[in-house]
Amino acid sequence: MSTHDPRGQHEKTFPALPPAPGRAFARTWWGHAWLRALEDSALDGEQVRQGRRYARSGAVGAVSVRPGGLTAVVRDRDGTAHRTDVLVQEFTEAEWDRLLALAAAESGYIAALLDREVPPGLAEDAAAAGVELLPGIGDLDPRCDCGEWDHCPHTAALCYQVARLLDQDPFVLLLLRGRGERDLVGELEERSTAGAEAVRVAPADAGVPAGQAYAVRPLPPLPPPPRLPDAPGQPPTLDTEGEAEPEIDVDAVEFLAQAAATEAHRLLAEAVAPGHADRTAPPPLTVAEDAVRLTAEADDFRVRSRLASATGRSRADMELAVRAWGFGAAPGLAALEEDWTPDRTTLAGARAALAAAWADEAAPVLRRVRARWTEAGTGRQLRLGREGRWWPYRREGDRWIPAGPSAPDPASALEAGPAG
Ligand SMILES: [Zn+2]
Repeated sequence: MSTHDPRGQHEKTFPALPPAPGRAFARTWWGHAWLRALEDSALDGEQVRQGRRYARSGAVGAVSVRPGGLTAVVRDRDGTAHRTDVLVQEFTEAEWDRLLALAAAESGYIAALLDREVPPGLAEDAAAAGVELLPGIGDLDPRCDCGEWDHCPHTAALCYQVARLLDQDPFVLLLLRGRGERDLVGELEERSTAGAEAVRVAPADAGVPAGQAYAVRPLPPLPPPPRLPDAPGQPPTLDTEGEAEPEIDVDAVEFLAQAAATEAHRLLAEAVAPGHADRTAPPPLTVAEDAVRLTAEADDFRVRSRLASATGRSRADMELAVRAWGFGAAPGLAALEEDWTPDRTTLAGARAALAAAWADEAAPVLRRVRARWTEAGTGRQLRLGREGRWWPYRREGDRWIPAGPSAPDPASALEAGPAG
């Protein structure tokens, strides 16, 4: 039984990659095979070399991958944009059937694929069964609006860029051949389980004892957990050809997807990476704190403005909050925005710390209001946080702004926040 979606449901878009000076475009054997199909079939080697230079310089925009083809906008050096396609033959149902049967028969093949590796054995077995996983000479069919009928620098650049994508994710190749990752993994699981059950369960029309029919069936073994990626993944770009609904802020959605990927990577690192296991998790952030954390990560002006207004801060207040966050995350933000009154015991401790911090003649003259000590005439202030650390502030115009990271003693903190 196939759960294959109708054609066109599977388009996946990858954001433009940064320029790659001096870098090899394929590092895996399947990436090399992909590029060989381009280099061996182009009639004009100079067009291919120019395409490689284009890809290196970052001329290829977001790449959209769908069953049967790739599309990207590729820019000439003078900025002229070309819509560029490379078509690849999809597998027929019969070819998919053979390939999936081979892949499902070897648990090592499934595990390798989930680990973003193409097992050479699978490609060899498939070839022996008449299914060529990787394109060969003439299989990368170029279409470009520059009018060239063979590979031009634009289609070549697109092929080079896709070699980089393939290195990271061989499911790109399988999507080109007609099936998305989710369908494939589902079908492979189904087939490998079905194979195991077929041995155990009698034919249905012979009747099955109820106990056996309802017995807990052993599940196939789980694949090994994937390695922790070095960096958060890039969410798909939403900058596609269609117009977004007016109420959807595409930049904001892209930003949130990226921020979520970053946070997921951080949580995963804490959960699985050695050396992180003994770290105590910070307390969860409030919505107002999280908005400041997100603003600190956001480059986009409109995203920053929205986060400010959503938390009831002016843009200037938000800039101060981000500055405080940079010096000390949530406790740093609390020192900026929370004007609290210490109890007697805390206050006694603070006075003792102040008295011990300086030799008598060097001690600054400090006036206290609640948990804030201001030095007369210098524009310097110390704030005591609830966590017991001292935060330096300095006066700018009519505002107090965070002047540095906190310190456990008042003298070091005041040093960190010189006037001015
Ligand atoms: Zn072209």
